[in-house]
Amino acid sequence: MQIANHKLTGCWHGPSPNSGGALNNPSILVMHFTASGGAGPQGVRNYFLNPAAKAAAHVIVGRNGVVEQVVAFNVRGWHAGKSIWRGVRNCNDFSIGIEIDNWGALTKTEDGKFRSYAGAVVAPARVTQARHKYDGVLRYWEIFDEVQLDALAEVTKTILAAYPSITEIVGHDDIAPGRKSDPGPAFPMSRFTSLVTGRDDAPPTRRRVTASRLNVRGGAGMQFEVLGQLQSGDMVDLLYDTPGMWAHISCTLGHTPGVTGWVADQYLR
Ligand SMILES: [Zn+2]
Repeated sequence: MQIANHKLTGCWHGPSPNSGGALNNPSILVMHFTASGGAGPQGVRNYFLNPAAKAAAHVIVGRNGVVEQVVAFNVRGWHAGKSIWRGVRNCNDFSIGIEIDNWGALTKTEDGKFRSYAGAVVAPARVTQARHKYDGVLRYWEIFDEVQLDALAEVTKTILAAYPSITEIVGHDDIAPGRKSDPGPAFPMSRFTSLVTGRDDAPPTRRRVTASRLNVRGGAGMQFEVLGQLQSGDMVDLLYDTPGMWAHISCTLGHTPGVTGWVADQYLR
């Protein structure tokens, strides 16, 4: 993936009317979630192409890893809204925005299903519990798949290489705290901020199991089926973690290599 003429090569492009004005020397990259469903970005794309939406980020990354661009990187996208970062208002003037397809916060309804605000059902294996850093309230959130995060990492690296003026990656919730919750606590932000600080070649975060027996479950909760059992001293790769809650892990060395699932993070060190 490359950038030519302020556009990613090899992906769909459609100029959104919800943009305008020159964007020169962007200094931050803003991560969003779309609060929408679907495998690819097409549904969101149509929203961003609609003038009535009055909103568009530069790039959309679908759950299946498909990338689309609706605003060129030298044009202001309308993605931040009322916002402030390091004392400077109107972040659209100095940022590139990426929308990541994800429902965000979910509610567990009386039938035991996890649903988005729009009523869409999300499979239990795609749900985690976490507290948002700005309100501390424990909620359910849709997780982000590896295929999507890998595509997002490639887009992020490509943008950082083309626009060295970008020195920080932030969430919409960082520049509009209290008003916005995206990309939220299920998003592994540190994996992306480390791309800016040049630590993208760092090995995966390893943890050692401290409990004598530790169940690996199919979701972030005791109600999910046990997929395997770790033992004290086993090593796991941390895919992401909600401190004090559940960690999504992949077993690397030990008794159940290859198993990916969820464990209580207090038993990892
Ligand atoms: Zn947003």
